[in-house]
Amino acid sequence: MNILFATSEVYPLVKTGGLADVSASLPRALLQLKQDIRIVLPAYQTVLEQAVAAKKVAECHHYGFDIDILQTLLPGTRVKVLMVDCPALFDRPGNPYLNAIGDEWQDNPLRFALFNQVVVDIALNRLVYDWSVDLVHCNDWQTGLTPALLSLFEHRPATLFSIHNLAYQGIYAKQAFFDLGLPEYLWSMHGLEFHDLFSFIKGGLNFADRISTVSPSYAEEIQTAEYGYGLEDLLHHRKADLSGILNGIDTEVWNPGTDKLITHQYNRRSLAKKSENKRALQQRLDLPVDAHIPVFGLISRLVEQKGIDLILAALAEIIKRPLQLVFLGSGQSHYEQQLMDWARIHPDKLAVFLGYDEALAHQIEAGSDFFLMPSLFEPCGLNQFYSLRYGTLPVVTAVGGLADSVIDYTGQSGAASGNGFVLAEKTSDALMTTMERALAVYHQPQIWQRLQLNAMAQDHSWKSSAKEYLQLYQMVLDQHPKVTV
Ligand code: ADP
Repeated sequence: MNILFATSEVYPLVKTGGLADVSASLPRALLQLKQDIRIVLPAYQTVLEQAVAAKKVAECHHYGFDIDILQTLLPGTRVKVLMVDCPALFDRPGNPYLNAIGDEWQDNPLRFALFNQVVVDIALNRLVYDWSVDLVHCNDWQTGLTPALLSLFEHRPATLFSIHNLAYQGIYAKQAFFDLGLPEYLWSMHGLEFHDLFSFIKGGLNFADRISTVSPSYAEEIQTAEYGYGLEDLLHHRKADLSGILNGIDTEVWNPGTDKLITHQYNRRSLAKKSENKRALQQRLDLPVDAHIPVFGLISRLVEQKGIDLILAALAEIIKRPLQLVFLGSGQSHYEQQLMDWARIHPDKLAVFLGYDEALAHQIEAGSDFFLMPSLFEPCGLNQFYSLRYGTLPVVTAVGGLADSVIDYTGQSGAASGNGFVLAEKTSDALMTTMERALAVYHQPQIWQRLQLNAMAQDHSWKSSAKEYLQLYQMVLDQHPKVTV
């Protein structure tokens, strides 16, 4: 299959979130499954700086700009990457979407409309590049216009649109739609209009042959008002075309058996060595060194989505228990401030590290006994997978990818089934009760260890998810008339 994978972020060329990780690891896994998959993304400054030996393979012209298409390989892989090089729009320092003071670039509608126009050129094989595409896999709002524009053509590749986080939709003023000269009939609620505004994501949701998202539970949740951001009816209407596939993780980077960022490597057979990592973590963060005290870790963007309010509301109670808390994160300043205040009052109980620190993230996964992730919504989530792999039992809310990967230990069946602890509801009381349950299990070593082994036995590599995507691609192709471009 010839698959064009359209995305606005790919690790390590450019990353603001989980989309970048998926855009790197899924194409890699599909290449291993013998598919010809090529990534297309805007040539941001950071992308150009890192793309070695890029070669011009085509050129085109849109909205008065001369555009070069450059090709390189994704660093460390054999995956081809096409870069849409329009310096006036993409060759800027910093974040791909925001300027230096954190506001959206004023010309984002133009930037991403142009990107989509070029994706369409490649998809329809209109350039000298000469590659016949069977399927275009679009990702998030930045690629939403592609299925809409392709729908105008009788002979076109099949399209799949993946939602990585519905909270981001690419919504702009109505005028932007008309300034871009888009076909007028697309201006309707069945097209790109959203309450008299111009919505990029609706292009994907209305016109793609199929829609997917990053967990089966999130696929259900986004059909409800609580998680649908006003798009729930549209998504419900397309229910038959909507599926959820869990993201995989990079099992080489996140492997407690080989992890160079932790002090003592361990696996299922040498689980006892995990406690050495706990000691190292306690030492590093100036917490009392105590092998017997349970440690709860948290690594997170400090934003509302991640349930930081639930933790803060329960913290006065939590801190009374015999436990230690280790938090690593950055984000909204009011959360940072409150957590630092608590850490100052209870330095023997709570260590807070503000910032982004890859090594510490690995050390927290290895050195903690539990991992806190009480998200209000979570399309997929990665940290619960890392925690499971490191035998660090996750304490989570039953949302999205968390609900699909963490199995609550209820203790009812007698047997130690389960791999973590799930809150009955999204409240601070439920968080407290669930932490109490986890603490009780911690003091029953046999059950505790059984749960750790359950957690570590699971396979969250991309292998099985990539196969699911491949099946989905095949399904879309079967439904869609064979490409003739
Ligand atoms: P999201 O994409 O919503 O932020 P995920 O759980 O899907 O949440 O992925 C977050 C990723 O970012 C994980 O790999 C996590 O370890 C990492 N991460 C988040 N905050 C930090 C931090 N402060 N330091 C190091 N890694 C972090």
